[in-house]
Amino acid sequence: MAEKYKIVHDRDICIGCSACASVCPKYWYMESDGKSNIHGATKTGNGEEEILGTNENPLTEDYESNIDAAESCPVNCIHVHKVKDDGTDEKII
Ligand code: SF4
Repeated sequence: MAEKYKIVHDRDICIGCSACASVCPKYWYMESDGKSNIHGATKTGNGEEEILGTNENPLTEDYESNIDAAESCPVNCIHVHKVKDDGTDEKII
């Protein structure tokens, strides 16, 4: 069974350095206000946006590249969570 992941952007603290968009352009892009956004993300309030994906091919590569994006963020405002069957989630990074 595919594992499900959630990518979370704490947009309030994004400093607009564009590292995420360079490392993972399939998911991340720079917005006209100077901060990044996730393509197709849902706004969740409190300045956050998130998108769900699974580890099934070809998304395995996407999972890895979003981990790379999170590691590249100088202010740690990108997080990847594993979503459990009961709907709760566990932060990986
Ligand atoms: S790497 Fe972090 S601070 Fe830089 S644009 Fe992306 S989310 Fe914002």
